Amino acid sequence: MKKNGRDTVSQIIDQTMHFLVHNGFMVTAGVMCLVHATLLFMMLAFGVTPLVQFNILSVTVYAFCFLLCRLGHIMPVYVSIILEVTCYTVISTYYLGLRCGTYCFLFSIVPIIIYFGTFLFKGWARWSVVLMLVINFGVFVYLYLSFYEARPVFELDPASRITLVFFSSFMMVFSTIFYNFLYIYASEVQVKSLEQRNEQLSADAREDALTGLLNRRGFMPLLEELMKKDDAHFCIAFCDIDNFKRINDANGHEAGDEVLRHITGMIKKEMHGCNICRWGGEEIVILMKDHDMTVALEKAEYLRKSVEASPTLFFNNRIFTTVTVGLEENKDSYREPDDIIKVADERMYYGKQHGKNIVVWKSN
Ligand code: GH3
Ligand code: MG
Ligand code: MG
Repeated sequence: MKKNGRDTVSQIIDQTMHFLVHNGFMVTAGVMCLVHATLLFMMLAFGVTPLVQFNILSVTVYAFCFLLCRLGHIMPVYVSIILEVTCYTVISTYYLGLRCGTYCFLFSIVPIIIYFGTFLFKGWARWSVVLMLVINFGVFVYLYLSFYEARPVFELDPASRITLVFFSSFMMVFSTIFYNFLYIYASEVQVKSLEQRNEQLSADAREDALTGLLNRRGFMPLLEELMKKDDAHFCIAFCDIDNFKRINDANGHEAGDEVLRHITGMIKKEMHGCNICRWGGEEIVILMKDHDMTVALEKAEYLRKSVEASPTLFFNNRIFTTVTVGLEENKDSYREPDDIIKVADERMYYGKQHGKNIVVWKSN
């Protein structure tokens, strides 16, 4: 019951974030409209007529931006937000002075410039984001130097000043947190969808990308097809690289990959004409068509000795490896591919428990 409640909450959060990520501009225009409506009432209360007029203009601009967003015109909205906030900051600092803190509005658009800029601009055009940030900072320096000593046109009482300082710094902090969260969420969604696409691609593919061997999806239909025939004559070899984890740990994952490529290359050579599958990790299953146990054992033993004698070369390092193999021949009693693979796997496992680097061809 508790878990269900948590699920519902996280579902609501997910839906909200999804909405915000996909309607970011419209939400921003809407919030800006509200912010200026609030400032409009504040300026009315403080009796700062020029800023009342400017706020009416700003509310109109953002209402228009809201409409533009609905029509899908994003770039004019982006430019309008940056221009409007910059002008508002300069004008409000001129009328009210630095001590009212309205220069914080300049900083509140920094996350907006970056967040939307990275979506709108690609490649070299992204430098325009940097340019806008530099101009933004330049405007702040200009305001600071010009109005540090200057007397404001409207001298507000301390309570009004503090209200404005809190309001503008709240907008700055809110904007920083809000757009960073949106950015993190949008990135996570992108990573998740890439992972899903990758999984789908590997599932669709019938070959393993690292070794070029068949994967299970490509291999199983071949074995199933063969087992449907009466008197299908074949052997299955289940190979597993010995102490592979130790190889990874001692030489790094890249070296482990190279060992896999090297050994599978040898298997392809020694088991020419067979269907070879990367079963998973460092396990390889070989379908030896028209092989009886005597020939299969001979070939598997030859392979085992070749692997033992042929280390993998990795950046001047010689990495010695061995394989353990379980063998089984097809029988009438085997109906499904899993029946015979299971026996070969059990024999391989027996080999692991009895010293490794061995071919096991009968059950003990
Ligand atoms: P054993 O001799 O009993 O088979 O021991 P092992 O270390 O070979 O077997 P274990 O199952 O303990 O470890 C298998 C390791 O293979 C763990 C995993 O990280 C590694 N591995 C699986 N797939 C890959 C891969 O594609 N590349 C690399 N480098 N390592 C892999
Ligand atoms: Mg192993
Ligand atoms: Mg294994």
